[in-house]
Amino acid sequence: MARDWQTRLIHSGAKAPEGFRSFATPVHRGSTTLFETAAEVADGSDQTNPYRYGIYGTPTTLELAGRIAELEGGEWSVIVPSGLAAISITYLALTKAGGHVLVPENAYGPNALLASRLMTRFGVETETYPHDIAGGIAERIRENTQLIWCETPGSVTMEVQDVPAIAAAARARGVPVALDNTYGAGVFYDGFGHGADISMQALTKYVGGHSDLLLGSITVRDPALRKAFDDAYNWLGFSVSPDECSLALRGLKTLAVRLKHFEQATLEVARWMATRPEIERVLHPALPSCPGHDIWKRDFTGSASIFSVLFREDFSREQLLGFVDRLELFRIGFSWGGAASLVMPYFGPNRAAQQFGERLVRFNIGLETAADLCADLEQALVVLRD
Ligand SMILES: *Cc1c(COP(=O)(O)O)cnc(C)c1O
Repeated sequence: MARDWQTRLIHSGAKAPEGFRSFATPVHRGSTTLFETAAEVADGSDQTNPYRYGIYGTPTTLELAGRIAELEGGEWSVIVPSGLAAISITYLALTKAGGHVLVPENAYGPNALLASRLMTRFGVETETYPHDIAGGIAERIRENTQLIWCETPGSVTMEVQDVPAIAAAARARGVPVALDNTYGAGVFYDGFGHGADISMQALTKYVGGHSDLLLGSITVRDPALRKAFDDAYNWLGFSVSPDECSLALRGLKTLAVRLKHFEQATLEVARWMATRPEIERVLHPALPSCPGHDIWKRDFTGSASIFSVLFREDFSREQLLGFVDRLELFRIGFSWGGAASLVMPYFGPNRAAQQFGERLVRFNIGLETAADLCADLEQALVVLRD
């Protein structure tokens, strides 16, 4: 039956030749995914078919999930729209009204806000604990504790946590430990080897690697946790774009060389900053001046691209903002892990053991050479002499 051209726009007989092969994972788009027979869907679609509807994943998103699980040594991963979405799905999958959650004082800021502002509305109580609590966490675990967060190192104040000690205490009480493993990128820190039950990453940072996408991942080993996250994912509609996932898959191919450069260049710049008279303290986990440095040496296999500096007390807020504004190669912006160096003043974080006041500045080292970055810092530090 000859069909009209308008119908043929939708149901075409033309097909590209088969047999094309390339290194790139195809970008599979689809809200509707197709079934061969009516029987497959007569009683609701077959739940064992991973491709029921675009929201549950496409080959592009599921390949990225598989690769993150492989990288982190997990059994299963799910990809969500951002690192923050990975944090929020963790709360929604694992907590319920009447519950209690322990969050470290150095946690990613929006994690702490989500816990204290949103989860409290659902009857989940949050308690903040000191970053260096280690096995002392045992005293904070209650009958109703449903989740313990760890983050190592903190992404602003850089404290390294004793995750194995926290995880051992949590395991003894049957409480799952969720690790924000963004700094370790699933490479420099073996989350599962150190006792975490859930490893989450903002893929936005190192896996994406170019400051042009937002994605997050949750990785687990335990089948019951997998079920909890799979359910939450299916209920919540945290669907991701195959375009973002294809960029993340491309990012994975260069992750090793980028991390290698970041480690070396960041150490070089951090060590140079440590020699400067304007600086009281450099917070980089691979330097002894960082809280938890000994734990870093014990547990990490490398260091990444961020560090913070605490300026000496004698500079004013205006002087430090003037220093940041004067930098040329370091651009002012949130996030990290991309190709360009970044700088951000963090005036305000306080910890049980230390008040940072208005003198903490964080740097993210990009793919530039360390010598040029040090020269940029040197010319900007001149403003502090006036
Ligand atoms: C950036 C970041 C997140 C959130 O990631 P987004 O993709 O920006 O939502 C979570 N945790 C840490 C430690 C981060 O640095």
